[in-house]
Amino acid sequence: MTAPLLTSLAASGDDRPDALSVGGRALSREELLGAAGAVAARIAGAPVVAVRATATPETVVAVVGALLAGVPVVPVPPDSGPAERDHILRDSGATLLLTGEAVDAPVETVPVDLTERAAWTKAEPDPESTAFVLYTSGTTGAPKGALISRRAVAADLDGLAAAWAWTPEDTLVHGLPLFHVHGLVLGVLGALRTGSRLVHTGKPTPAAYAAADGSLYFGVPTVWNRIVQDPDSARALASARLLVSGSAPLPAPVFRELERLTGQRPIERYGMTETLITISTRADGERRPGYVGTPLSGIRTRIAAEEGAEIGELQLTGPTLFDGYLNRPEATAGSYTEDGWFRTGDIAAIDPDGFHRIVGRASTDMIKSGGYRIGAGEVENALLDHPAVREAAVVGAPHEDLGQEIVAYVVADGIGERELIDFVASQLSVHKRPRKVRFLEALPRNAMGKPQKKLLPPA
Ligand code: ATP
Ligand code: MG
Repeated sequence: MTAPLLTSLAASGDDRPDALSVGGRALSREELLGAAGAVAARIAGAPVVAVRATATPETVVAVVGALLAGVPVVPVPPDSGPAERDHILRDSGATLLLTGEAVDAPVETVPVDLTERAAWTKAEPDPESTAFVLYTSGTTGAPKGALISRRAVAADLDGLAAAWAWTPEDTLVHGLPLFHVHGLVLGVLGALRTGSRLVHTGKPTPAAYAAADGSLYFGVPTVWNRIVQDPDSARALASARLLVSGSAPLPAPVFRELERLTGQRPIERYGMTETLITISTRADGERRPGYVGTPLSGIRTRIAAEEGAEIGELQLTGPTLFDGYLNRPEATAGSYTEDGWFRTGDIAAIDPDGFHRIVGRASTDMIKSGGYRIGAGEVENALLDHPAVREAAVVGAPHEDLGQEIVAYVVADGIGERELIDFVASQLSVHKRPRKVRFLEALPRNAMGKPQKKLLPPA
């Protein structure tokens, strides 16, 4: 039986004055609960509330307050332009915006004040009710509002706590945005539910990670990539218990550099807004570059592959799945198979020992060229193995003869197109080498560090 979402928060005996620290401002658990109780009292009965999700303690207080009151929370990226913000507010139907700072908004704003206190004594809401409306990253289209139940969050966090041996003894450090499943659900509620201390560094810089004295560190691959390029900061993480990467593929060269500099192999985990985290390597298990491990407790996975193919769409079922997209019945229906499994839209393979390898997204990372199917990630990893290449994104561009041709976009110093194509050809089968290489100053990425392939310039 999964315990209700907030049980351990209220029951925690943790009286450290800095149980929660965000951007250098600290709160004890008692202060957090008191301020969140005041928020709950103000918004009780609202159908849904938005939170302007800055990296501040006010955001945590607002989110916990809404969870206490049983009002679904919609985190809004604080840097989103008015168009994106207003889309989220309109689409979600939020009529209140909780915010730490005064802002202009098309709905009523409710200030969050860390010094207010109110005891909230009402019983925990129904586990099947909605905890969050989380908007997807918008990598493949417009962001969609995923309805996430309290039960799904609790089940997910318990699965992760078991996989990572995550306990009240831990201090979690991260500096990820608080409007996404990674930084907010995993990175805040995970710490609250497991009873561990949380240090949010404000921004996920190598220096901030090195200075924080943590046992568990969360990052997206861009964060780990910056850390390995700052070896002193990386070495400072040698005494951590677990370094965890997720939200996008961790390039194998970054995995190996992290191991070389810190003496430990990172944990990799895979998930989506719609499913929360479903697959991970384990604190006490093997960790292999390029693999995200095995399903968490209660999750079942399968690969829908064409006859004879090893890779295909990853599909899954389990207690962490969302309850559909808000206002999008067709998208919701389309995301399930006839027999009720969730279609991730990601291409993956499962090794005989159960280890999962994510190849890429069906929509952008599966290149069909000259009758071959080529996973963009494999070519990206081969490019990144060259010491001159710092970032790489590979796509299939329309081609008359081949159907698609492989085009590589790289951030690199002191190397030419021919040399890079030859380098890949020396590593992979000949049909996997790019036919064109384009040099960029930086890859287009979103706030989570996910490469935005739809924003690459034309080949
Ligand atoms: P949208 O659904 O709006 O297009 P998105 O899929 O990027 O955006 P998220 O829910 O934030 O939105 O991201 C989930 C996706 O991130 C997964 O489907 C997968 O493609 C990718 N992903 C997450 N973790 C990993 C990982 N460890 N390795 C590879 N890819 C990952
Ligand atoms: Mg998605």
